[in-house]
Amino acid sequence: MKVVYFDKDIPRILATKAAAKMAKSLLFTGINPVKYKKNLPNTPLPAQDWVRVRNIACGLCGTDVSFFTATTGTDSALEPIPGTKHTYLGHENVGVVTEIGEEVTEFKLGDRVAIRAYMSGCDTKGLKERCHYCEAGDYNFCLNYGTPSPYGELVTGAGWSDSFIYPARGLARIYDELTDEQAVMLEPSCVSVHSVLCAPPKKSEKILVMGAGSIGLGIVQAIKIVEPDCELYIMERVKSKQDFALRLGADHVLEGDPYAATAKATGGSQVFVGMRGNKYFFGGFDRIYDCIGGDWSNHTAVRLLRARGTLVKIGHHMRAVRFDETPIWWQELKIVGVDAHGMEEWLGRRLYTFDLVQEWIRDGIYSVEGFVTHYFKLDDYKAALKLALENPPDVVKIAIDCQ
Ligand SMILES: [Zn+2]
Ligand SMILES: [Zn+2]
Repeated sequence: MKVVYFDKDIPRILATKAAAKMAKSLLFTGINPVKYKKNLPNTPLPAQDWVRVRNIACGLCGTDVSFFTATTGTDSALEPIPGTKHTYLGHENVGVVTEIGEEVTEFKLGDRVAIRAYMSGCDTKGLKERCHYCEAGDYNFCLNYGTPSPYGELVTGAGWSDSFIYPARGLARIYDELTDEQAVMLEPSCVSVHSVLCAPPKKSEKILVMGAGSIGLGIVQAIKIVEPDCELYIMERVKSKQDFALRLGADHVLEGDPYAATAKATGGSQVFVGMRGNKYFFGGFDRIYDCIGGDWSNHTAVRLLRARGTLVKIGHHMRAVRFDETPIWWQELKIVGVDAHGMEEWLGRRLYTFDLVQEWIRDGIYSVEGFVTHYFKLDDYKAALKLALENPPDVVKIAIDCQ
């Protein structure tokens, strides 16, 4: 096996945090807790409900970059949870089932699959007794996040591996109609669709999507699928991504100063400017989907909403952030958090996000055409991370070719 993993080695993590602040080039030295091992023997399946998967390709996600830059804060809710010693990178994958335990009923040899439950839980550890959330398909709320694996510290691999082993229940079958590249975009597309269905747009609303990366571009499409009769603005500094968003259904680009532009777009009051450029106005968007996250975007998003508007938080950091919460209570805002994907209620059906999005891609309702802009070989995973950190304008989705 060839695997890329994060080594939970505290001195290394602290050194990497410091290095990330000093010089990005230091991240690419041996101190980094993200490691690559080649020539590992294949781990035998630990139980009969597991499968082995040969990877075809896997996307690069902000989560992978977070591991590489060791950004998880000692003040975040994630920190006290005992994680495994090694976390295998890559969760936006497509691969082929090459070995199958006797109890597996979901798949057969040769099926294409993707990792569905990636965050530590019942379906990633192969717990026989699942918690009620996982049993209902809401694996993103798993109660066994901190429960040790019954099989100890297995070398499982994940998306950034040439092959990996996984409990069958943590995987989704890829529909025959989808290409491998569409399958690579499935997981991030599920994040976009889940975000919109967590707080669906309403008729005639004025809506802002902050950030037209792969998640924001998916959100633009999902908003227009769920409620075509809304006016959709995109906030994005890269021109080619603005155009991409407009092609996928956004109605306008929010240009210039976001306060003045929002006041104008929504019929708000004049913009008042206080000390040190502190700005506020009355009025604003009915709903904002924030795909950026962090101090600036939290601060800005809550100020661009009308009274009782809704902020949907998709972009996030794995550390505590600081921002002015005044508008939240003053204007009685609603804040909806979003994590990954799970189950959706759609047109009277309850189904996995992974199935709903595959149906939409298959039926031509939702497009991932042109999303993957760069491929790197697994051996060159550091070059992929370097490009992600540089984030030049032409990058939408970077993918690893695992073959
Ligand atoms: Zn992801
Ligand atoms: Zn669970």
